[in-house]
Formats: sequence, structure tokens, C-alpha cells
Amino acid sequence: MGAKKNYNDILKNRNLKVTKHRYAILESLEKSKLPVSAESLYIELKKKGISISLSTVYRSLEALYKKGIVIKSILPDYNKAVFEYNHNEHRHHMICIKCHKMQPVTGCPLEEYEKLIESKFNFTVKGHNLEVYGYCDGCESKTED
Ligand SMILES: [Zn+2]
Ligand SMILES: [Zn+2]
Repeated sequence: MGAKKNYNDILKNRNLKVTKHRYAILESLEKSKLPVSAESLYIELKKKGISISLSTVYRSLEALYKKGIVIKSILPDYNKAVFEYNHNEHRHHMICIKCHKMQPVTGCPLEEYEKLIESKFNFTVKGHNLEVYGYCDGCESKTED
């Protein structure tokens, strides 16, 4: 005990009503190592025996995203949104161009670059995004045969 997040408090602190659907969504997202789409989250919740509609999953994810509880990323080439639990740590992503799997990378190589931009262009940097594209482990081996 103790390690388990109190999702009720997280929701209440952001003025969101606690519903069993929101609770289940947060629980699934926090456990997931990879960002997930609304569709795959919906399938996962169904498997757990939770009765929820896809539109409720969409609406809940949007509400959680607006409050900063989850992070939403759009995969630019596929025009598809994926969601992940906001652990409040800065991270980047590796995106497989074949299976579209998106894996987080912790640690940032761009701190020096930000400083350079600030001094060179007198621009106050507030953040950045970086996605790295390529083939994941599974797809790399498949392309060889
Ligand atoms: Zn892949
Ligand atoms: Zn970074």
C-alpha cells in the first residue's frame, strides 16, 4: 500500500467529477508503458469487463487532457492521437514508421541547444518537442526477410 495513486484526489483537485470510467482510464494509462489510442484503450477496458462506449472513452480522455492529467500527442503522419499518463517528466518519443508503436525516451539531449537558441536569437524558450522516426526492434527484423 501507499504506492497506489489516489485518482479520486487527482480528479477532485482538478475539479473533475470522479466517475468509475475516469478512474479506470487513469489506472490503465498509468500502467501502460506506451502511449495508447482511444480505440486500444477502449478495447483494453472492455477486456477488463468495464462497460463503456468508445465515445465516453474519447470524451473522458479529452477532459483529462484539458486538465493536464494526461498528455495527448498527435502522430503527424497518421493523424491519430495517442494518450499517456502525465508523470510530469520531460521525455521524447521514438515512433516506428511501420507498426506506429510510440516508445518514450527519458532524458533530453536538447538543453544546450535551447541555451544556444536563447542567446543567438534572443528567444525565450519554454519547451520543445522531438520525435524520432525509424523501425522498432520487431519491425527491423521483419523487413529483412
Ligand atoms: Zn515497429
Ligand atoms: Zn527534450
